[in-house]
Amino acid sequence: MSATATKILPNYINGGWVPSTSSELLDITNPATGALLAQVPLSGAADVDAAVQAARAAFPAWKAKSTIERARWLFGFREQLVQRADEIAATATREMGKTYPDAQAEVGRMIEMVECATAIPTTMQGRILEGVATKVDTETIRQPVGVCAAITPFNFPAMVPMWFLPFAIACGNTFILKPSEQVPMTQQLVFEIIHELGLPDGVVNLVNGSRDVVNGILDHPGIDAVSFVGSASTAAYIYERAAAKKKRVQALGGAKNSMLVMPDAIMDKTADNIIGSAFGAAGQRCMAGSIIVAVGGAWNDLQKELIPRTNALTVGDGMETGTSVGPVVSREARDRIRGMIDTAVASGATLAVDGRSPGLSEEGAFVGPTIVQNVTADMEIAREEVFGPVLSIVEVDTLADAIAFVNGSRYGNGTSIFTESGAAVRRYRHEVEVGMIGVNVGVAAPVAFFPFSGWKDSFLGDLHAHGTDGVDFYTRKKTVTTRWFADGESGKYFVEQGD
Ligand code: NAD
Repeated sequence: MSATATKILPNYINGGWVPSTSSELLDITNPATGALLAQVPLSGAADVDAAVQAARAAFPAWKAKSTIERARWLFGFREQLVQRADEIAATATREMGKTYPDAQAEVGRMIEMVECATAIPTTMQGRILEGVATKVDTETIRQPVGVCAAITPFNFPAMVPMWFLPFAIACGNTFILKPSEQVPMTQQLVFEIIHELGLPDGVVNLVNGSRDVVNGILDHPGIDAVSFVGSASTAAYIYERAAAKKKRVQALGGAKNSMLVMPDAIMDKTADNIIGSAFGAAGQRCMAGSIIVAVGGAWNDLQKELIPRTNALTVGDGMETGTSVGPVVSREARDRIRGMIDTAVASGATLAVDGRSPGLSEEGAFVGPTIVQNVTADMEIAREEVFGPVLSIVEVDTLADAIAFVNGSRYGNGTSIFTESGAAVRRYRHEVEVGMIGVNVGVAAPVAFFPFSGWKDSFLGDLHAHGTDGVDFYTRKKTVTTRWFADGESGKYFVEQGD
């Protein structure tokens, strides 16, 4: 594609596509080939302000619409997402790298978010108690918060923005999305669908860019709530700066997820699950299994199942049939991941499977599945998020040792335990300081109608994303206490009132 033909992505503000006020552009490339796909503008505070003005102006009328009308719009949105699911998935694969079947699964999860938000006439209901005092009733109703913004990461270009947008607008808020500048094209397509469906101007807005847009969102007095998903360090920054501006904030951060394997685990099924968990999306999931904590010699049996399966994985372009592991998001990410493997080896770890040079063009951002053995708790690879197709093996003697290892992490996003022992599961579930747990399940990411519940540095805030927490985050409670003096018939008072 020549530079003159390169599409510069517009913003979507107040019901129309508009160019960014910034002339600073970032190239969007296909990580499998290095080919230029488009350019994204790095918008600034002026673009955020235009979106906020539009969203504020749209808020009163959108809030006043009946819940069933808002839900009905989401039904139409859902239908169009289903119609164009393959196109959305292909766009996600091209700009992010994950395999096309994986992207199709992501789009399925994205659609489930919208489906779940259509339940808003039920899930947004308040509570009432008749008779808190004589002839006095109290009710708590839920109202939208106002203008809400979401800042999202590169690894789920379709789904993560929909953790927020459908729930926010279903509750009657208006909304601004800042997608990852590394993968802005998928949401461009989603907003084309929104535009064609004809949502009232200003109800949803899209501002492309990076830090300047984020800071514009965090500092703008016209934004009431901020949702963030991304790395732990950015999450901490967002949480502090948004809270300092008195905004409601939920900030979902990075992860380092362990998978415990007990000696009694069914090893072939366990290996199947671990392969998907560790190497799916080339390890670029916040719920990716990053470490096997093998208890009581379990690695001896597990490795016989796991290493051949890992060696059988095919690395390549995610659009090609038969590819099991696509590229990582960028060549910078590839080099960082290779560097972390090198450091682990230099620290004394050994490689059971070495994917550093998978034999593909260096134009593509490829790292093959890698298994690092003899990892100890003090190594960088045991403590820090790799966000690549790299699985570390830590061996411990007992379940207590395994729990201590997992709880020693600053992260607490997800974990899995593989065993047939109910007692081990019961103990693990009770003692582990992690918000999402899988039992013989590799990736225990909750479905749309449950909250996405990371702990510790993996989540800052009180109310998590989607499910009932999503509705709580996007509503404010208002409590009304009511008394009527009359008895309901003209001119008559209650006898008890005595006057
Ligand atoms: P990132 O933190 O680099 O970027 C996320 C968003 O923040 C982007 O929109 C980016 O533009 C913005 N941003 C980045 N640095 C910023 C800064 N210094 N100031 C202001 N804004 C900034 O994350 P990423 O690399 O896009 O995504 C991968 C990370 O996201 C991983 O750590 C992964 O674990 C995490 N993640 C977490 C969850 C979860 O639910 N906990 C889900 C998906 C991804």
